[in-house]
Amino acid sequence: MEDYISISTLNDYIFCPYSIYLHNVYMDADEGLYHATPQTKGTIAHTATDGKTSSTSSNDILSLPVSSDELGVMGKIDVYKQKEKMLIERKYKLKQIYRGQLYQLWAQYYCMLELGYKIEKLAFYEISTNRMIPIKIPTEEEKNELTEFIQRFRNYNPADYFVPNPNKCLHCIYCNLCDKTEVENVYS
Ligand code: SF4
Repeated sequence: MEDYISISTLNDYIFCPYSIYLHNVYMDADEGLYHATPQTKGTIAHTATDGKTSSTSSNDILSLPVSSDELGVMGKIDVYKQKEKMLIERKYKLKQIYRGQLYQLWAQYYCMLELGYKIEKLAFYEISTNRMIPIKIPTEEEKNELTEFIQRFRNYNPADYFVPNPNKCLHCIYCNLCDKTEVENVYS
């Protein structure tokens, strides 16, 4: 599975492809080197399910490792409610839902189908507001969009010419370690 793309990086790739390269370079480094507040909160959002403490219902499957041979992705789901046939991704805060976050949920969905689970409902759960946000099951067109996106991700070469977006750099956790920009992020 070494060529499989991690589902958790799909949204990061949309934010900035170069951040994926930096993530791979620094992933073994001390997390304090680059973890900024938003990511720390994101980690907290997943701690409950990773520690399997967010639900006491035996109806729920938490933190299940999943993968898809068809898409070439792997990762973990947050919560699958068996009775409701509902797949849920927890986020600390969701002011808006980005395409990359949808890609993550869709990728989890296709992984679960490939593993033989039935899914009739998708949702994000916003922890900070205790809000469930229903998401439509992806269409065939949306599946194609996801497949093409994963292909672009797979073909990405960090040596390709690239102009950074300073507004993104300002909010990037790798900003202080990145050779593409001189700006300092807002978390410094
Ligand atoms: S600092 Fe800017 S260019 Fe570098 S990874 Fe982050 S967003 Fe991309």
